[in-house]
Amino acid sequence: MEIQWILVCHGLVTLLVLVSFLCGQWPIFDGTPIQRINHFLTFGAYDYFQRFVGFVFGARGTNAIASAEYFCCDRPNQILQILYFAIVGGTYYLVATSSFRYIPGYYISEIHRYASLLAVGVGVLLFLLASFSDPGTVKADNVSLYLSAYPYDNIIYSEKDCSTCKIPKPARSKHCSICDRCVARFDHHCGWMNNCIGERNTRYFVAFLLWHTLLCIYGTVAIGLILAGQVKEFKVIGILTVYYGVDNSFRRLTPHVVQWLLGAYNIQILLMVFLAIVSLLLAGFFGYHAKLCLTNTTTNETFKWQDYLSWQRKLSEARASSAALKASINGTDSERKSPESKWRAIFRRSPLKEVDVVVKNNMYDKGFFQNILEVIVPLSRRPLASQTKSKSG
Ligand SMILES: [Zn+2]
Ligand SMILES: [Zn+2]
Repeated sequence: MEIQWILVCHGLVTLLVLVSFLCGQWPIFDGTPIQRINHFLTFGAYDYFQRFVGFVFGARGTNAIASAEYFCCDRPNQILQILYFAIVGGTYYLVATSSFRYIPGYYISEIHRYASLLAVGVGVLLFLLASFSDPGTVKADNVSLYLSAYPYDNIIYSEKDCSTCKIPKPARSKHCSICDRCVARFDHHCGWMNNCIGERNTRYFVAFLLWHTLLCIYGTVAIGLILAGQVKEFKVIGILTVYYGVDNSFRRLTPHVVQWLLGAYNIQILLMVFLAIVSLLLAGFFGYHAKLCLTNTTTNETFKWQDYLSWQRKLSEARASSAALKASINGTDSERKSPESKWRAIFRRSPLKEVDVVVKNNMYDKGFFQNILEVIVPLSRRPLASQTKSKSG
């Protein structure tokens, strides 16, 4: 029973930390402990660490943290790339040394020894492609190609030059301050890849997320099948029911089986929990980026649309208050009209309406299939098609 409770507590704490970290900033968690945990994980813990170092080592300590932060977060560096290889290599090594000896097992065939290596190899290949491919760097000699491929919508993108590169800034592009270059259809700068994710490598990035999600699920299921095979081969259920007199029911047997597995196969259990948690995280990231691809939006643009919507809201509020002021100066029947305008204001604030504004105004959203095709074959790689389109438009 004790082990059962430890497992339940462990699971609940892990879930609470994960949900707080990933979803703590959602409006539904405003003012809840989940929001406070999120604040602690994303800001508070680091702040306390900085203060602690400042208290112990003085200005020299805080300066060292600031320069380490600058090197790790604001300059191109291979730290997270090395960490990726350490995590993938370490996990594969642990799985191979701890679990390959049980393959072939009762529920798992010999082929998984080679299939797992192949699956990891494909994952590493996708990582290398996303990390070392050109994300779509905009330079003086190719800027015209991007300008014709991506017309301005005059809402979140209008004609202007990049103040650093001194070249026209095509719509959907952004100057990455870490890489110090303009990138077409800029999504974000990925620290893990030490590269921008843009027009030409979004396909590799999304494939990387999908593949690694599936890879972690594969690992979790494969280890689960190995353990199930061990339970079968050692006739654990039979021994528990016949020799120890445990009831032959799922509820009664599970704690004993789990206890036996934790004692004899603790590395495999730890690997399973680790892979399951990572697969959940990756599935969340993949879902988010898949949704962006399907609506032909980038991470960068979601921030731009948020800014646009809050600006629109402020503008309409300013208009409403100036109209109310005019009405009160003119001494008209403003009191009779005010309840209606309040309701209108609430309706205007409806989140559904905001989504509508983005969908209606996003001229780059050309429908499900066209959007997917644009990620697979970038527009600037189809100069003829984009040029005729821009001429006809
Ligand atoms: Zn630039
Ligand atoms: Zn970058």
